[in-house]
Parts: sequence; C-alpha cells; structure tokens
Amino acid sequence: MTTSTTRPRSSGGRAGSAPPSSTDPHQDCPLCPRLVEFREAQRAREPSWFNSPVPSFGAADGRLLIVGLAPGLQGANRTGRPFTGDYAGELLYGTLLRYGFAKGRFEARPDDGLTLVDCRISNAVRCVPPQNKPLPAEINQCRAFLGATIAAMPRLRSIVALGRISHDTLLKLLGLRAAAAPFAHGAVHQAGAIKLYDSYHCSRYNTNTGVLTTEMFHAVFARVKAELD
Ligand code: SF4
Repeated sequence: MTTSTTRPRSSGGRAGSAPPSSTDPHQDCPLCPRLVEFREAQRAREPSWFNSPVPSFGAADGRLLIVGLAPGLQGANRTGRPFTGDYAGELLYGTLLRYGFAKGRFEARPDDGLTLVDCRISNAVRCVPPQNKPLPAEINQCRAFLGATIAAMPRLRSIVALGRISHDTLLKLLGLRAAAAPFAHGAVHQAGAIKLYDSYHCSRYNTNTGVLTTEMFHAVFARVKAELD
C-alpha cells in the first residue's frame, strides 16, 4: 500500500534555517549534507511520499517518551508518522495499545485515527538515513531536536530507548556516563526524576533473528506501566 502525504509546514524559521531549539526540524533542515542529498533524491523518486524530517507523534504533556533510531525509508519517511508503514510499527503500536499507551486502531496509516495516551514517540535522527545507518556526525547534529523535545515535556518521567544508538544519544542529553549506564535490554537507569528504560529496537531484523521476542518487548512496557501507575 502506498500512502500519499503532505509535508509539514515550517515549525519556525525560514527554509533551511531550523533553529536548534525547535522540537521539530524545518522540512528542509540543511544540517546533514548526506541526508539532505538522500532526501532530495527520494523527493524526486517518490514525490507523493513525506520525504522530510519526521515530527514527533503524541502530546507534549505525556509522561512517557519513546525514542527510536530514525525513520524507515518506506515507513515514517513515506507516511510522515513515526513507526507507521513498516514492520516496526506493528509491534510498537500493538504493544502501546496493549498497555494503555494508545487508543483506537493501528492501520499503518497516519489517518487511521490512532491516538497516543500519556505518551509521545520521537527519533534520535529525524531524517531517513541510507541503509538505516546514520553517521555519528548526523546523530550529534540531530540531538538538539531530541533535547528540545525532552525539554518541552514538563511531566516526563519515563523514556524508552529503542536500541543502542538511541540509548547513547539519550545518555548525553540526560547527563549520564556511559560506563555507569551501559545499554542492555531490560535495563533501567535513573537520571534525576526520569527513568530510562532500554529495549532492543523492534525492527523486523531483530524479531526475525530472535534478538527480540514479543514477550521481551512487552515486558519493558509492562514495567514502564507498572512504575508509572
Ligand atoms: S537528521 Fe536532523 S539535523 Fe540532520 S538534516 Fe535531518 S533534521 Fe536536520
């Protein structure tokens, strides 16, 4: 299924000048030349796709933030909503519905009516990277947007990091030392009033290879739910 989308209007600043304090980058954010080139090529190849930095999904007053790696080429990069349109979203949204962090029905379309409850979803890197692999400089460059996203959530108490890259970039934002907070599936790290929960990323690769089972993923969110309630 192909979903046509409309790119977002600017969230502030003129084209090509996204201020680092924005929670969502400008649609033409120029900060990562390699990703800009990839974005432009995708816009030419698939003009009906979103093909822009993907904004966070969910209200800023949520107590839970989920941080993935980056938009998938045919997932969020196509549809414009995090984890929507490829396999990773099936497991993530199914789990959020199961534990009361989402309402409605997930149909892998941004207009499926699904809403998040007490929860927001974002990515460490907002633009789709080639082969799903952002470069360290790109992760560093995009961290300001994740930092602004966190700063704009006044009730935030729990963050789920999906994968090691997400975990590492969150450590820098939360002021935790890597040696004191190593990544491990199911690990929980305290950063002031915020708990950081680690999970393997819910990618098709991880589930197909058995690195992550549905039960392992559910266990992370069951714990988040129990500790928030
Ligand atoms: S990855 Fe982030 S910082 Fe880099 S171009 Fe995209 S929105 Fe801008």
